[in-house]
Amino acid sequence: MSKKMIVIAETKDGELRNVSFESIAAAKKITPDGEVVGLICGAEDASNLGQELIYYGADRVITVTNEKMKSYTSEGYGQAILSVVEEESPDGIVMGHTSIGKDLSPKLASKLDTGLISDAVDVEVIGDQIVFTRPIYSGKAFEKKIITDGITFVTIRPNNITALEKDESRTGNVSSKDVDIKDLRTIVKEVVRKASEGVDLSEAKVVVAGGRGVKSADGFKPLYELADVLGGAVGASRGACDADYCDYSLQIGQTGKVVTPDLYIAVGISGAIQHLAGMSNSKVIVAINKDPEANIFNIADYGIVGDLFEVIPMLIEELKKV
Ligand code: FAD
Repeated sequence: MSKKMIVIAETKDGELRNVSFESIAAAKKITPDGEVVGLICGAEDASNLGQELIYYGADRVITVTNEKMKSYTSEGYGQAILSVVEEESPDGIVMGHTSIGKDLSPKLASKLDTGLISDAVDVEVIGDQIVFTRPIYSGKAFEKKIITDGITFVTIRPNNITALEKDESRTGNVSSKDVDIKDLRTIVKEVVRKASEGVDLSEAKVVVAGGRGVKSADGFKPLYELADVLGGAVGASRGACDADYCDYSLQIGQTGKVVTPDLYIAVGISGAIQHLAGMSNSKVIVAINKDPEANIFNIADYGIVGDLFEVIPMLIEELKKV
């Protein structure tokens, strides 16, 4: 049965985040013959971004522009999205399992009185059932879930569902909608950036993560250089964050960010279970540790036993030749 899906796209610094394109691909898998409607909310006109979503497979895009959505608040975005959902009556909603997705989706699901499957890493249509796969027990197992009634509402983990190839011959309507947003009870006055600029950690294809073995904030410099050469982002263990070598925004793990890059390089990280919870589903894991017994080697695809301060410069030198 063909369905109508709404994909709530996410932007950062005026650009669409990759997870928006991945969400379109997930929605297309759910309804290959149905309609996938992209939705972009914000304070700036987003018609150019709407066109981009079409190139990535959306059949139609609605943009909602309102001054009250200058910064993200669940209240402002929630009102805008609910108004579109009310008008469109979709069969399903897909959005990224990002900080915004995690904050917004339960509130929307509750307002829509529907179930929610969060953090899906795969979706398949089996007969007339839409089956979502999601990791449980900190990534040690996977469960398969279906929604039996109401809207199929799902958040998808970034970097797991492959986006469709961009195709500029795809066409579709991009329309704007006026939404009346009531006065907000919380207003973002200022956003102070603490994280480093550059590649977004949760969407990076390559992550170079440092642990307590890096020994100091200065010790992180070679990791930034390696990440730069590989076009990746720098992450960290909680051990490194607790020791004040880097900001908590870099923390990966059970109480930090969950990442699934193509390549994860763990540097001076022992591999505590709480760290593995945030990275064990990475496609290829390389561990650099001077202790051959370190637990991280048990999940690594490639291990280098050695002093990181010798190994990283050699890696950088070799990679620069490529
Ligand atoms: P360590 O365990 O101290 O390991 C340092 C490693 O560096 C060692 O293996 C050592 O051999 C190696 N090393 C030292 N010098 C060098 C060198 N020169 N060259 C190469 N290798 C070297 N941790 C997280 O990471 N993320 C979380 O989200 C998280 N959440 C937690 C939640 C709870 C409730 C609890 C209790 C803990 C949590 N932790 C989390 C902490 C976790 O248990 C570990 O303490 C932490 O991951 C250890 O960090 P580490 O591997 O950097 O440090």
